[in-house]
Amino acid sequence: MEYYHDTWKLGIQPEKRLKVIIIGAGVAGLTAGIGLKRSGHDVTILEQVREIAEVGAGIQMAPNNTRILGRFDVLSEIVKTCNFMKKNSLRRWQNNEELGTAPLMPVIADKFGAPLGVIHRGDLQRTLLEAAKKEGVKIQTDHKVVKADDNFEARVQLKNGDWLKADLIVAAHGIKSDIRRQIAEHHNHKDHATPTGDAAYRILIPKEKLEHDEYALGLLNQDVGMRWMGPGGHIMAYPVKNNTVYNMVLLHPEKPNVDHQEGESWTRQGDKKEMLDFYKDWCPEIRNMLSYVPEGDVKEWTLNSHQPLPSWVENKVVLIGDACHPMLPYVAQGAAQAIEDAGVLQCVLAKSSTNVPLALHIYEEVRKARAEAIQGSAAATRKALHLPDGPEQQERDRKISQAGKGEGENPDLWSDTSFQEFMWGTDVMRDTIVRWPEYKARAEGTHLHALAAVAYT
Ligand SMILES: Cc1cc2nc3c(=O)[nH]c(=O)nc-3n(C[C@H](O)[C@H](O)[C@H](O)COP(=O)(O)OP(=O)(O)OC[C@H]3O[C@@H](n4cnc5c(N)ncnc54)[C@H](O)[C@@H]3O)c2cc1C
Repeated sequence: MEYYHDTWKLGIQPEKRLKVIIIGAGVAGLTAGIGLKRSGHDVTILEQVREIAEVGAGIQMAPNNTRILGRFDVLSEIVKTCNFMKKNSLRRWQNNEELGTAPLMPVIADKFGAPLGVIHRGDLQRTLLEAAKKEGVKIQTDHKVVKADDNFEARVQLKNGDWLKADLIVAAHGIKSDIRRQIAEHHNHKDHATPTGDAAYRILIPKEKLEHDEYALGLLNQDVGMRWMGPGGHIMAYPVKNNTVYNMVLLHPEKPNVDHQEGESWTRQGDKKEMLDFYKDWCPEIRNMLSYVPEGDVKEWTLNSHQPLPSWVENKVVLIGDACHPMLPYVAQGAAQAIEDAGVLQCVLAKSSTNVPLALHIYEEVRKARAEAIQGSAAATRKALHLPDGPEQQERDRKISQAGKGEGENPDLWSDTSFQEFMWGTDVMRDTIVRWPEYKARAEGTHLHALAAVAYT
């Protein structure tokens, strides 16, 4: 915890103890469960799977996320399975030339008061699950929710037909959320995903496979985030699990004829041969690394963008996490934005537990524009990282090199100091509390305005 300097505390207890049902025991649902239980609410999480198993690969723990986990007293456990990167190294695809670097730890922790680490999703979810149970959150697995009631009163129906009732429903069930669709339809909006044209291979290479390769072993041991940029794709790589596994995410054009009906999946099998084929002209260091991936261990994730929803909230039902703002991996904010949602939810319900719709309205005001701005940054980053060789790429590389010396903007937004200020420096919990009177007045004004409009029509 030497990297954690945050001292802000919520310091407000809700007037009323609410009965809360959370759908989904992913990162968003578990963190929200911990936060709301710590405020004294009665929290039950309904999770569809029978057993919560270790799935996924590396996830980044940015300061806007670790700051909140620190306040929920779970960071000290989480850091035990985190790796802390000293810097990010931005490189050229063809010859592995380092174009520039961006400092990470401890510079980032000193600047933002909370650390930046990387972790295996399974370790993160397991630690959150244990913490939630310890707080007294009730977790019911093998409970698949199929819908919310039509008036979005706090009632949900399970797959077995039973209805459950609470004071508030938090829908944290990820990218395939049916309640997102239900809320969108309520606003006459058709929710759909648009293919970006990219896909990402996710691979994990165990240390035993690298032992004979000095360069590869160096990458595994050095705690440096590696970002190789090339025509039509880029690679982000770093060690996880205390330097025993090398995690790589490889973005590349999606192959033609992909069946988009299948929807988004984190677990679709990828083809190692196709992967080696796309990166065949990239530098030998990368090709070697890819050759070590065990056969059958390549996962491929189709990258879709989602248009902003008209609303994340309906009456006593609220969306959080990937259910309302699925993130593309360009600025690595999937878990962080989900955790911000959980932090803000704790704040608004501490301030307004007797008026849940008002609390949720303010939650949406604090969170929606910010998460959508971060979601929207993917397009610019994708373009910058995937440029074909030529004058534009040369100009990008020049800027990366200058930014590495502290001059000018970095075209890789993830490494750009002013974007980092916005992404990692914003303290959404503190902002919610400090600006509460302003948010409340605006929310009540909006409500009165809506009532007046109805009265005059
Ligand atoms: C299998 C898997 C692997 C992933 N791997 C990575 C990765 O390698 N790198 C990365 O950056 N991000 C990964 N992610 C995504 C990442 O976890 C999220 O972007 C981020 O953490 C926000 O999480 P979330 O809680 O909103 O959604 P999720 O992590 O998707 O969690 C949603 C939870 O809700 C449950 N659920 C879904 N539908 C229902 C229902 N109807 N009723 C009850 N429960 C339901 C799911 O089983 C799941 O536990 C993965 C997600 C999943 C599900």
